Amino acid sequence: MENLCNINVIKDVFERHNFSFSKTLGQNFLVNPSICPRIAEDGIRDENYGVIEIGTGIGVLTNELAKRAKKVVAIEIDDRLIPILEETLAEYDNVKIINEDVLKVDLHKLIEEEFEGMNVCVCANLPYYITSPIIMALLESKLKIKSITVMVQKEAATRLCAKVGTRECGAVTFAVRYYSEPKLLFNVSRGSFMPAPNVDSAVIRLEIKDNDTIKANNEKFLFSLVKSAFSQRRKTLANPVSSGLNIPKSVVVEALEKVGLKSTVRAEQVPFEKFIELSNVLGELK
Ligand code: SAM
Repeated sequence: MENLCNINVIKDVFERHNFSFSKTLGQNFLVNPSICPRIAEDGIRDENYGVIEIGTGIGVLTNELAKRAKKVVAIEIDDRLIPILEETLAEYDNVKIINEDVLKVDLHKLIEEEFEGMNVCVCANLPYYITSPIIMALLESKLKIKSITVMVQKEAATRLCAKVGTRECGAVTFAVRYYSEPKLLFNVSRGSFMPAPNVDSAVIRLEIKDNDTIKANNEKFLFSLVKSAFSQRRKTLANPVSSGLNIPKSVVVEALEKVGLKSTVRAEQVPFEKFIELSNVLGELK
């Protein structure tokens, strides 16, 4: 169905289905017609692509994805939207809707069962209350996907795409950079949504790296180290790492010196590669 950005069309659909927005589910639907085609164009590189969409709303982005992809599997938690989607996506036979919480879906199985022989990407206007958990789940589970193109709050976009070793960086920045090449694509004003949120947004693209470029000896230990380091980001890293990982501070300081970092360094001053080196050295010393 076209015109899903048209306020009158949206109001008509809502009235007929007795639908009202849920704030707790992060329901801010896109009404700016220029945004969805851009997200779809960016994620879908050719017509043999399969797309996972997270959070369909009334299907405004799903429409654009379905026009360009071989298949779209869209996951939406709100069962009140399912009858609406049956109407707004009726013309497409390449869309499957899964009425589930995305964090409970086995995405490995989904990709295997739904997208055989296709390149797969994720495209979404994410529900903001669970942006980081969704992105972390997508990255950490090492799904066979090419890219993640998503709309997030502008502040989250800055953090997710920051350079490791700068003030904007956090533990999630490190994870993003570990698994992908992040890029901030374009900003989207709050007026592009209904209802309008209190903040602006941005679309980012995470191009997933090949597994063999990843070099940590023990990934679980690396991510525990990064999490501890950023748990008290304003303090020198040795203290939170020592207490968080239960390793004597003297051993942490020794490891820092071995990789050429000062004992007074803070998490936000540590470059990306140094975290991996530190994790490898500390893993041997502890
Ligand atoms: N794609 C639509 C658009 O751009 O207008 C809707 C985007 S809206 C920001 C986020 C959507 O995610 C809502 O439809 C909401 O119901 C859905 N959602 C929220 N939490 C979810 C979850 N845990 N799993 C799947 N969908 C979820």
